[in-house]
Order: sequence, then C-alpha cells, then structure tokens
Amino acid sequence: MDQHPPVNLLGHDLEGLTAFLLQIGEKPFRARQLMRWVHRFGEADFAQMTDLARSLRAALDRTAVVAAPRLLTDSTATDGTRKWLLEVGAGNAIETVFIPEANRGTLCISSQVGCALECAFCATGRQGFNRNLSVAEIIGQLWWANRALGGGRSLGGRDARTDKGTGDRIISNVVMMGMGEPLTNFDNVVTALRIMLDDHAYGLSRRRVTVSTAGVVPNIDRLRQECPVALAVSLHAPNDELRDRLVPINKKWPLRELLAACNRYLESAPADAEPVPAGVKWQRAGAPRDFITFEYVMLAGVNDGPEHARQLLEVARQVPCKYNLIPFNPFPESGFERSSPAAVRRFQEILMHAGLVTTVRKTRGDDIDGACGQLAGRVQDRTRRAQRRRAEASA
Ligand code: SAH
Repeated sequence: MDQHPPVNLLGHDLEGLTAFLLQIGEKPFRARQLMRWVHRFGEADFAQMTDLARSLRAALDRTAVVAAPRLLTDSTATDGTRKWLLEVGAGNAIETVFIPEANRGTLCISSQVGCALECAFCATGRQGFNRNLSVAEIIGQLWWANRALGGGRSLGGRDARTDKGTGDRIISNVVMMGMGEPLTNFDNVVTALRIMLDDHAYGLSRRRVTVSTAGVVPNIDRLRQECPVALAVSLHAPNDELRDRLVPINKKWPLRELLAACNRYLESAPADAEPVPAGVKWQRAGAPRDFITFEYVMLAGVNDGPEHARQLLEVARQVPCKYNLIPFNPFPESGFERSSPAAVRRFQEILMHAGLVTTVRKTRGDDIDGACGQLAGRVQDRTRRAQRRRAEASA
C-alpha cells in the first residue's frame, strides 16, 4: 500500500471514499466524517481531524492527501467579484470566479483546461484545448473558494451548513460556466456534482447547481439519468444557419435535436435513473427545475435584431424556457462587438411582451477579465488552433 502514490481525497464522492476506506482496512462509515472534514471544514491536515481514531489518522497520513490546485493569483474587482488563477501543472492554469450578490453568492467553475469547441465569440475557445480537469481539480475550485471566503473552519470557525437558510451561505450557487465544456468531461463533472450536492460536503440544492452546455445532446440525456441539476444551454442563435457559424457543435447536433433533448431533460426522472446515493439531497423525482435557461450572447448586427427575437419566440413554443441575454464581453481580435443597450432593450421587450421571462446578465468583474467569455487562464494548446488561425488569416 505504502508504495502507491497517495490517494487525493478531493477526487472522491461518498461512494469513492467508502471504497477507499474499505481498501485500507478501515470502517466504511467513516467516509461521512471524512467528507465533512475535507469539504465542510476545508481541512487538509489529518492531524486536525480530532474525532477520527488515532489509528485512522495515521493510516490516512500514509495513504492519502487532500490536494487542491495551487493558487497563483487572487484578484478582486471593483464590484466585489473575485477571481482565482489556479495552477494545474505543465504550464496550465484555470480560472474560478466568485460573484457576490445581495441574496446569493455564485461560484463559476471551470471543467477543462481550454475548450475543444470553437464557439466564434469565446476567448476560451480561441485558446485551444489541453485536457479535461480531474475530479479533484474541479471540486478543488469550490474547496479553495469556500476556504478563501471563510466558509471552512480554517477562517472564522463557522460551520456554513448550520447557518439559517441557504441565503446565508457564502457560496449558495455553483455554475459550471467557466472554462471548458462540462458535458465533454462527463464522468469527472458528475462525480464533482455529487460532492457539491452531498449533505456531508457542500449540501447545495440541485436547483442551485447549474451545468451550462453548448449542446452535447447525448450527454444531456446522461446527465438527466445520472445527476439531474439545473440546465443552461448556450443557444446564441435562433436558427441552424446562424448557429452553425456561432456554435459549430450545432452542425453535429442541430437545433431540432437539441430542443428535443431539452424537453426530455424536463420530463420526470426515467425509471432507470440511478438510485440517489445516501446523504444526497433529492428534492423530487425528475428535473430539479421545470424550465431550461437559454443563454444568448448579444452580438451587434449578428444575432440581435428584432427578427431574431421573433424566431426565439418560436423556440420558446417548443421548450419551456427562460432567456438570459448576455451582452458580449469583448477580447482582442474577437471580430465581434457588443450590442448597444438600446438593441438589448428592444430584444428583451419583444420576448417579455410575449410573456417570456427574460433577464439581462449584468456584466461583473470585467476589470479583472472575470466576465463571461473572458476566462482564459493559461492553456498549453495541443490542438494547434492558434497556428491554424494564423495560417488561415495569411492564406
Ligand atoms: N461550454 C459551456 C460553458 C462555458 S461558457 C457552454 O457553452 O455553455 C459560459 C457562457 O458564457 C456560455 O453561454 C458562453 O457562450 C458565454 N460566453 C462565451 N464567450 C462569451 C463572451 N465573449 N461574452 C459573453 N458571453 C460569452
């Protein structure tokens, strides 16, 4: 056993921790206690886990670690948005953003180093792709932020879970809207989601954890079976012709298939859904919310005309949804411009007039490049995307 590299406990949900404890000859029910120490209290030092038997602490010392990605920089924007750059090895770094609001605190988490999709207007997509993040690297972002914000025992000594109501929690919501496409790193993302939902860990409600996807249709179905949470879909265009250009994965799974998958997601849980692991909150059978959030980046002169809004009304007739309009956040050489506030307002009015809930995402943290589509981290691209772009430009 001792010759093996230590097991990173951050990489395991309750089931995984249970299996690990059995493997080192310890009592499986200790997994819950361990989960609480590691996640709820943010403790990385086994010696501090005072209610664990001394023999167990010694065994953990020999076989395990709690290792989150290393912090490189920590910046705070004028509006209170905070961004951490975390090192994940081989010259790569990822970004995590915390967005405080009056009634909630949202953590925006990355799922990959870079992104393999090439959405035309996204800075992450422009950078290329290196690899999927591990479970420990995904949940490590929440672990890190929770400690840094004083949710763990290390700072303030308060147990965030015992505060009244979810509103008092520092991190009340998690959105998988950082770097990467979460549904192409499916297994690791699902294990990380289970840890977020686990009452012994972060105890987040399924309605307050959102997976955002550009539309990986088969994995929307798998998510519904394996770990239903709130779903956001990056729509960005109301018809296939335009969407093929802006979100190229649309060529593989066009709107008709995407919208059908959205409807399946909203149906009640299938009979063959996995049983809910002990300790995980289960609000009710079926999707945790009864609508899909469609994200729609507003690009001047590209997708922001009244005719586009009217086409979105057609989409909304097919899928129960809310629209979230995102003013485009520019980055160098993006080739796009942000829609004018008047255009955004006109667009929103057409949707609202038809009775659709339509919000405009407030730009937060743009002075630290922490806004949507500005997350870049450091990506050692393995897809030669930059070279390809340069070659295309000079051809
Ligand atoms: N890959 C996932 C999640 C990451 S992106 C997805 O596509 O949904 C999170 C959101 O930010 C997506 O809706 C994405 O389209 C949007 N976004 C990307 N670039 C942007 C930009 N430059 N300005 C505004 N929003 C952007």
